[in-house]
Amino acid sequence: MIRSVICFGAHPDDETMLIGGTLAMLAQRGVRVHVVSATRGEGGEMGDAPGVSRATLGAVREAELRGAAAALGAATVDILGYVDPVIGEDEALYAFEADFDTLTRQIADLCRRYDADVVLSHGADGEYGHPAHVLMHRAVLRAMSVLPPDALFYSFAAAVPGIEDHLWNTNEPAHLALDVRPWLDIKEAAALCHRTQHALFKRRRNLKTVREALRTVESVRRRLPPLPDDAPLDETPPGDAFAALLRAAGAWQPVHTQ
Ligand SMILES: [Zn+2]
Repeated sequence: MIRSVICFGAHPDDETMLIGGTLAMLAQRGVRVHVVSATRGEGGEMGDAPGVSRATLGAVREAELRGAAAALGAATVDILGYVDPVIGEDEALYAFEADFDTLTRQIADLCRRYDADVVLSHGADGEYGHPAHVLMHRAVLRAMSVLPPDALFYSFAAAVPGIEDHLWNTNEPAHLALDVRPWLDIKEAAALCHRTQHALFKRRRNLKTVREALRTVESVRRRLPPLPDDAPLDETPPGDAFAALLRAAGAWQPVHTQ
């Protein structure tokens, strides 16, 4: 049985835009959802929210994150306190500076504190290659090595064939995909909390509303314990209560053809 799920993102809004519908579903089913962000997103866009400056952006985005997490039904929010570097020229993205051992210890400590059955975090490709997302993925992988061996690590935004999405981790085929439209109102309420990022959400595809920017299919790939390559595609892995829970919520196993 899944009682506690912890989601590690690099920035405020990752929890909502990458896996928010799934988190809302979990919270609705009585799972304690814990949201963690490595940074306050202080290097990101300031958007058109009034009165926001580079100096106040971190505090504003932390408040946005707390609002979004509450909307999703999360029980707690933790911020690891790393500083998100300002986006460079030509939209160059950077990882936050961190001592890798300290970061992995922080992650493991939070998993223990919240007695997490499942850890969710970024994919190996950092979705669209964001170095901060890649760093979190690597740190979670490392942190899991000191946790109980039955703890599950699922990465999100795994590729779902037949669905175009610039955020899919293209080298990570999804094990499960979930249509999150039943929880889309909740996901939208969370996304609306991230007011400084609304222009960014809409800009990429020239959208008019934040709701249009929300993906309606979310996906995960089981990273730990690794699934054998020949695991049957149409069965829940033995002992994997998270996969069973997702399937009960309507998730399916996408068929990947090479
Ligand atoms: Zn991010």
